[in-house]
Amino acid sequence: MKAPLTHRHTPISRFWGGAVGLFLVFSACFLFHLTRVQAAETDLEQKYQQARQSFLQLEKSHDKSERRSWENVIERFKEIYKKHPQTVWGEKAMFMVGRAAYHLYRLSGEEADLETALDHLSRLVNHYPQSVLADDALYLTALIQLEHRKDPDQARKTLQRLIKDYPKGDMKKRAEELLAARDSKKSAVEPLSPSESGGRTTAPDEGGKSTKPEAAPQALPMVTGLRHWSTPLYTRIVVDVEEKITYRSKLLKKDPATDKPERLYLDIYPARMAPTIAPLIIQDGLLRGARIGQYDASTVRVVLDIETIKGYKIFFLENPFRLIVDVSGKEKPAEKEGAAVPSDKEKEREKKLSLAQQLGLGVKRIVIDPGHGGKDTGAIGKDGTYEKNLTLILAKKLAQRVKEELNLEVILTRDTDRFIPLEERTAIANTRHADLFISIHLNASLNPQTEGVETYFLNLTSDEDSIRVAARENATSTKRIGDLQKILKDLMLNTKIDESSRLAGHVQKRLVEALNEKFAPVKSHGVKQAPFYVLIGAQMPAVLVEASFLSNDRERERLLQEGYQDQIVEGILKGIEAYIKETKITG
Ligand SMILES: [Zn+2]
Repeated sequence: MKAPLTHRHTPISRFWGGAVGLFLVFSACFLFHLTRVQAAETDLEQKYQQARQSFLQLEKSHDKSERRSWENVIERFKEIYKKHPQTVWGEKAMFMVGRAAYHLYRLSGEEADLETALDHLSRLVNHYPQSVLADDALYLTALIQLEHRKDPDQARKTLQRLIKDYPKGDMKKRAEELLAARDSKKSAVEPLSPSESGGRTTAPDEGGKSTKPEAAPQALPMVTGLRHWSTPLYTRIVVDVEEKITYRSKLLKKDPATDKPERLYLDIYPARMAPTIAPLIIQDGLLRGARIGQYDASTVRVVLDIETIKGYKIFFLENPFRLIVDVSGKEKPAEKEGAAVPSDKEKEREKKLSLAQQLGLGVKRIVIDPGHGGKDTGAIGKDGTYEKNLTLILAKKLAQRVKEELNLEVILTRDTDRFIPLEERTAIANTRHADLFISIHLNASLNPQTEGVETYFLNLTSDEDSIRVAARENATSTKRIGDLQKILKDLMLNTKIDESSRLAGHVQKRLVEALNEKFAPVKSHGVKQAPFYVLIGAQMPAVLVEASFLSNDRERERLLQEGYQDQIVEGILKGIEAYIKETKITG
């Protein structure tokens, strides 16, 4: 029995054995192939995301000298769609070439850039009509035709095509709105119903007047820009204006009848709008976007289309004049968003951080802000030493030690000699959800004998010296500080005054101690308060350190010595550490 059975069994087992073997080989190949495809996909996505991050960075800089960087970003997107035309990343990259070239055009004014933009937008629509971005491309094309090509007929055709071909797309409604606005010769901001427009309601018999903007007189101050930084928790919008203007604002309720979202409008007057300002598409969960238009002959209206917000604050800064709208969201997300792929080292730090957090340590990310930069030199010493250079040296040294010794994530607002507006520094801290904000500066006085160290937090003040320091750091006059104080009370609500004051106390104490260890006697002017622009709106404990006087010969000479710099860094570091330890015990 055995033999025949074996005999009969053999072919079967061979068959199955072979099949299983084949299957295993096949699976291995398949899995191998799959892994490779996935790896390539991930790699491609990563390339796209990195290029996109660079785009977003550049978008915020408004620096005309960055043409090379823009071209670099455009090249990176081009490479993605050329090498991978049949992927979703290829499609997206083609759209991004259009967007980036358009931005570049707005900086350069060069027709070739606008051509590149229009060319890529139309290629996206024609090559990938099914792309989710096709309607976005058509909308942007229409805006360009309208604003820059001054070709309303062509823009109308583009919008009509969008509505017809993409009836289910998210741009359809906006296209219809834009068409309707063009039809009634309105600008990008809709007129308000009499009940909405509050104090500016026109009498019924002249009701049509405000809906037909006349050309604004050339002599009026011009609204020159609309900028923003955004996260799902916090968004800062800045409206740049040539001169000081008046403004009024109103929050409008959602209007289900007309399907309009909740809106916040800002009327700026007397003013005219620069023709090149494009609306902002934000879509961060707080705001859908911001529109701007000439509302009537002397009023520019900015409308923020709201998704969901908790609250907002509006204030202005001067020299140059700019209106700032800070919008805050409702809750804190569990994870930070928009973070780049973390390196192993960062992952390691994250691990340690989460352990530290379990122990009740609330501080994990800190923004260090080296004062001034680029065209803004800050104070200048008698020997030509620039404050901006020393603050950068100090900030970099501090960043290094905070990372290594306190194990915190550090973000520098700048790590090169470049100009960053004060309002952007706070926006960086807020959008990166920093837990502490430290701005590093050096003091200057008309009296060359004045020397010593002081640390500030944001508050009203009547102390003349503090007002002078704030005026200098804000690049405004002391008179302006007076104006600022009037609006500051309202802005101070919800800011962390007590925590900031406590942080300032620790930093000042340790800074003076550290300097006196090796350079006694160094004078302490103590903790002070003043309305610094760079601290306004900070959502975390925030301080500004004036770490010695550049106008004093002895301190200036010392500031150039590494030993003195190291003691300043040591002091601030120990101050931060003491603050965190105290938070941990009491918190
Ligand atoms: Zn300064």
